[in-house]
Amino acid sequence: MAKEDYYKLLGVEREAKAEEIKKAYRKLAVTYHPDKNPGDKAAEDKFKKISEAYEALSDTDKRAAYDRYGHAAFEQGASPRGGAGGGFHDPFDIFREVFSSAGGGTFEQFFGGQQRGRPQGADLRYDLEITLEEAAHGTEKEIRYRRPVACQSCSGSGAAAGSKRVSCSTCGGMGKVSTARGFFSMTQTCPTCQGMGTRVVDPCKSCNGQGRTIQPSTVKVKIPPGVDSGVQLRSTGHGEAAPGGGDAGDLYVVIHVKDNGLFERHQDDLYCEVPISFALASLGGSIDIPTLEGKVSLKIPAGTQSGTRFRLKGKGMPSLKSRTKGDQIVQVHVEVPKSLNADQRKKLETFAQACGNLDTPVPQSFLDKAKAFLGK
Ligand SMILES: [Zn+2]
Ligand SMILES: [Zn+2]
Repeated sequence: MAKEDYYKLLGVEREAKAEEIKKAYRKLAVTYHPDKNPGDKAAEDKFKKISEAYEALSDTDKRAAYDRYGHAAFEQGASPRGGAGGGFHDPFDIFREVFSSAGGGTFEQFFGGQQRGRPQGADLRYDLEITLEEAAHGTEKEIRYRRPVACQSCSGSGAAAGSKRVSCSTCGGMGKVSTARGFFSMTQTCPTCQGMGTRVVDPCKSCNGQGRTIQPSTVKVKIPPGVDSGVQLRSTGHGEAAPGGGDAGDLYVVIHVKDNGLFERHQDDLYCEVPISFALASLGGSIDIPTLEGKVSLKIPAGTQSGTRFRLKGKGMPSLKSRTKGDQIVQVHVEVPKSLNADQRKKLETFAQACGNLDTPVPQSFLDKAKAFLGK
């Protein structure tokens, strides 16, 4: 998709003064900042785009290049100035810079002193391999893994029995510190207490004051019918415990469905290839076909050609999204016997003679087409 015009993105005229561009960016950035739109992907994308636009238009050289060459000015290897053409900064850095230069305030202050929560535990990923049958019918799996959990001796506080955590003096218990450099002011997580606002004086012996120890964990995960490779199942609170007793992260179980020698899956349909004899294909009959629900009899009409597909309705995988089921598609292959015994050979020769075309086993219609193609 073509990139949007930087001026249009910020809603300013091409002749706009630097101050107008900054004002426009500030207004939009506050509206679309992810902190104000949690979980809103569209807002986040917009935030990134306007930050990129601002970065380009707030720099005199970059703006001049953009006015002349458009987006091509910043494409990798196409820099008209010979410098590093692409490479925009982190949109959050741009944002911080703009806001902290406005009278020393930080963007957290701009948002009304919004407090970030206590540190959260990290999410964990577990890769789980299951069979096609398990994916089809759904199952429950017990997952064993190791993860940091709250220390039992100190209940996660990290402080030895009889002692308490004390307010962190570095950040005054705020969990955040601001550093001022000239007109710039940056707020970051307190390096002493990692944002907890408190610290341990007498550390717990079991966890060395960390509040967490690595322990084996067991969790039961329900696998819904219809899952496919790549599906992620979330088990809330089964990730890493948070340092200092905050919320634990989540466990993400990533499904991998093992290859099945018989069936090949395409979304909810299952494909299988079945060899049939020349006699069955010619005379017709029925064969047993394996399906997820056991054997099913499939009728083969007389004169079935190799490669013919038959559809077994509703014998595929259940859909993860609806109550429907896919189909099983059976493709038959007519097998030519690799060796014949004397009796078989004799009978087949008799058959061929009865057909009257032993020397020209190719149908006349094909020969006619070939001749026409070759112009003879
Ligand atoms: Zn402890
Ligand atoms: Zn601190």
